[in-house]
Amino acid sequence: MSNLEQRPAETLTGSVPSPRQSLRVLAPRDVPLGGTRAMHVRRTLPHRDLRTVGAWCFLDDYGPQEVVGAGAMQVPPHPHTGLQTVTWLLDGQVRHQDSLGNDQLVRPGELNLMTAGRGISHAETSPTGATGDLCGLQLWVALPSERRDVEPDLGHHADLPVLHGEGFEATVLLGSLMGATSPARAFTPIVGAEVELRAAAVVTLELERTYEHAVLALSDDVVVDGTPVERAHLVHLSPGRPGLRLSAGRAAGRLLLLGGEPFDEELLMWWNFVARSHDEIVEAREEWMAAVAGAATRFGQVSAYDGAALPAPAVPTSRLRPRRRTQ
Ligand code: MN
Repeated sequence: MSNLEQRPAETLTGSVPSPRQSLRVLAPRDVPLGGTRAMHVRRTLPHRDLRTVGAWCFLDDYGPQEVVGAGAMQVPPHPHTGLQTVTWLLDGQVRHQDSLGNDQLVRPGELNLMTAGRGISHAETSPTGATGDLCGLQLWVALPSERRDVEPDLGHHADLPVLHGEGFEATVLLGSLMGATSPARAFTPIVGAEVELRAAAVVTLELERTYEHAVLALSDDVVVDGTPVERAHLVHLSPGRPGLRLSAGRAAGRLLLLGGEPFDEELLMWWNFVARSHDEIVEAREEWMAAVAGAATRFGQVSAYDGAALPAPAVPTSRLRPRRRTQ
């Protein structure tokens, strides 16, 4: 999906301090995606107190919302650079169309991984005639400097590895977890997995010790290392942990586990671009506006999409500054 904010400056919410320094609970902020659609998302990355988790640099979750009229997803063609987008649905379906000519239906349990690299554009819509609820996650992964100009690519993975453990199941989206490795293409040491806990389960997941991690609660009653976490809140865990203790309440629990080697490069995120400098952002924006007007650019055209592309917001008058991992 797109960052549709028309004034995409960061206005971020604070975190709740935890008695244990190595574990922080971050509240989501509600972001209206604008336009005539009333769609809202809960954004936990980037956060005022947490720029990235490994190379994971953007995390929205949304729904469940009924797919009727204005409630359907209607994101017109828009560009990306310097990142991978991860679309992961919990319910419903999304149609992905991109400037490489891909037209892909995304269903729950299937990973849609778009590598923007030097530039791509795509549209995301509810399929014609879709009904029921839509609920899902949109994440971005920053590409490291030496690989951020790779050729754009779409990976679609309907057959991801699933770990079956005592009291839990985990689907590995990206990287490896406890010996199960996703076939999806990653550019940095990283992990992403959806974990389902059975009711009343108490589970220990083994972690890669050099990674930092985060857990997004996708249901109520998720407890992370003894700390209850509200739905849609994100728990950040510092590197150095050999494992993670998770438990569910009386009902089953669902969560997303993210992790990776701390990403130490400076990043500048503006609208749908991940860059390193103000000038790169201005250049990408100008090129996209030329593409909207019909020019041939690195972003291509989503020719199968029936409608106008999404213009970029105005660049702020002050110079945008890249952000370090910690401030
Ligand atoms: Mn997008």
